[in-house]
Amino acid sequence: MALRRRTPLRCPVCNNELENAQVIPLGAVTADLPWELHAGRCSEHGWFQCEVISRPPREIFPVSRPGGTTRTFTINGVAAYAFPTIWNSEVTPRRVDPYDERYWEVDWSKLPEGTISF
Ligand SMILES: [Zn+2]
Repeated sequence: MALRRRTPLRCPVCNNELENAQVIPLGAVTADLPWELHAGRCSEHGWFQCEVISRPPREIFPVSRPGGTTRTFTINGVAAYAFPTIWNSEVTPRRVDPYDERYWEVDWSKLPEGTISF
């Protein structure tokens, strides 16, 4: 079994390292596609999580707790549910290291500009 590395997940709002960072194996979707839940808590913005199924996550969700319900947030008053990642914008998904942190960054071009409130 491969060595489990530290999650590349950071706070999508302020890019701080997350406290209580955890990687929770959720079994296998198929025999060769391990499924992981990555979660962590920003002291200012709360819990975030994302799912990793052999590729970087497409979206990062604010949640009440790891495995909990999604927290809605607003950007300039408009409701939003997730932060799309750079990986989400890949036109032709290639085989990459799912832990490559470059793909975990938020693609702000996909979100409206403005103040984020929870
Ligand atoms: Zn934060």
